Amino acid sequence: MMKLKTPYYLIDENKLLKNLKRIRRVKEISGAKCVLALKCFATWGVFPLMRKYMDGTTSSSLFEAKLGAEKFGKEVHAYSVAFSDHEMDEIKSISDKIIFNSVPQLERFYPKVKGKNLGLRVNPAFSYSHFDLADPARKYCKLGVRGTNSVRDALHKINGVMFHYNCENDDYGNFSNLLDRLGRDFGDILHKLEWVSLGGGFYFTKDGYPLEKFAHKLRVFSQKFGVQVYLEPGEAAITQTTYFVTRVVDIVKNEVNVAVVDSSVEAHMLDLLIYRQPAKIDRSAGPHTYMIAGKSCLAGDIFGTFKFRKKLAVGDEIRFADAAGYTMVKKNWFNGLAMPSIVVKKIDKTTCKIKSFSYNDFKSNLS
Ligand SMILES: *Cc1c(COP(=O)(O)O)cnc(C)c1O
Repeated sequence: MMKLKTPYYLIDENKLLKNLKRIRRVKEISGAKCVLALKCFATWGVFPLMRKYMDGTTSSSLFEAKLGAEKFGKEVHAYSVAFSDHEMDEIKSISDKIIFNSVPQLERFYPKVKGKNLGLRVNPAFSYSHFDLADPARKYCKLGVRGTNSVRDALHKINGVMFHYNCENDDYGNFSNLLDRLGRDFGDILHKLEWVSLGGGFYFTKDGYPLEKFAHKLRVFSQKFGVQVYLEPGEAAITQTTYFVTRVVDIVKNEVNVAVVDSSVEAHMLDLLIYRQPAKIDRSAGPHTYMIAGKSCLAGDIFGTFKFRKKLAVGDEIRFADAAGYTMVKKNWFNGLAMPSIVVKKIDKTTCKIKSFSYNDFKSNLS
């Protein structure tokens, strides 16, 4: 591979394919449809590959819905926590399904979108999440309609419901119990609808996950209630597919050895900072320990502390693993740092830089 200027995100299509084939297997067994959650991953350069295995996209905003319609095609699900009045004409024209987050939103826009395939997000008041920040059933949560009565009252206006109540759930037993609970709590409603989306947050593409059991369970659920099941994988579609490649630009010593790389957690892997998680590197073993820090002026801009086989030197490459989900979608221009380019290792193993950024992009981001 030619030497590329760091930093860059490196998406490996063969790794992506591995996830996509697992998604296809779940679809085959369960009859469920899978739409990509663009808020997790929207790097459209690899959509031509993803499109062959997935049924479309789901969105959190007008712009994501537009991107789905324009760059992915197939089914466009438009969801938003709250649509603005001026967005609805465009949403209506590009989407196959519109999913409202509340009854007041449904009522507000119903005269305009009547006749389209409509859904309501329902908050089942239970969830699986390791983080309060992302817990879809947290106290006072704005996400989804709560209580079955208000959903029942809206039934004549909608074709389906969306539940999103999982976050990084890799526990099949827990998935199974919660799905049973959903059936018990909302079964009478589901019987009257065409479709139900179970949202995202299931880590079913992970190595060792009981994929077939998962798919069979979905099939039984779908048949029992007579509904088309949708899944909205974000992370599960792109997990373990992407490296973030940086280079050491300085090494300073302050009790410990700190290697500063040509990137920043805050600018290029922001989610780690928000959730206070260390970055992952492929192999962390050996006698030499370094704290790896970003080069922004934020003191706590730290990727983590790792062990290396050899002493690090300026110019050495440091690769962080699992840098696709909630990473590229959140990159920003903090500190005016050079924006990582986007590189794809294609199915045929050739490498192709699909995007690079310049000073002008930084400048034009504000005015
Ligand atoms: C975030 C989100 C998803 C995707 O979740 P992952 O954890 O990335 O699979 C799907 N649907 C909705 C409504 C979401 O908010």
